[in-house]
Amino acid sequence: MVAGHFGFAAVVKSRERAVPLWALMLATQWLDVIFVPLFLVGIERLDPAPGTMGGYGNAIIYADYTHSLAGAALIAALTGVFSAAIWNRRTGAVLGAVVFSHWLLDLIVHRGDMPLLPRNWGGYPRLGFGLWRVPVASALLELALVLAGSYFYFVAARDVERGAGRTKMTGASTAAAIVLASGVVTLLLDVFGS
Ligand SMILES: [Zn+2]
Repeated sequence: MVAGHFGFAAVVKSRERAVPLWALMLATQWLDVIFVPLFLVGIERLDPAPGTMGGYGNAIIYADYTHSLAGAALIAALTGVFSAAIWNRRTGAVLGAVVFSHWLLDLIVHRGDMPLLPRNWGGYPRLGFGLWRVPVASALLELALVLAGSYFYFVAARDVERGAGRTKMTGASTAAAIVLASGVVTLLLDVFGS
């Protein structure tokens, strides 16, 4: 899931206007950003789900550090503390929570591959409701998040423009259109690109 996380970030931006949008966008993907170098050095892996060629939703992801419940919570807490030092406590709390939201949204779609503890320590059952088994449903969920993000982002930006005494909502419409277009393109590439 990529587009869905971005959509959620836009929803949060509409409520927490002081938090920079780029920081929210980065925070929603932060676990996957850290996954990339770990994947490249072979610490975290990704296998095609049995009977599939890989592609959208067809992966078993052994992201046993970044996508373990404890690992995600730790990364979220560290990001929150770090962000609080850069901005303020409120922004730190929001960004930390948004980092953790990635794990919760992934939990809906992942195919039972997310451990509780790093390296699946203790051998507890792995988690994930596996909505990716029904690609149409998970793509629709992502689309819904993108649409909600664009809409709430538009409403928030419109209020800012109104506050500045403008009557034409050019800035708000443009910004919301960019959020919508980038979300939809990301989703299409994710679904059809591989
Ligand atoms: Zn992820």
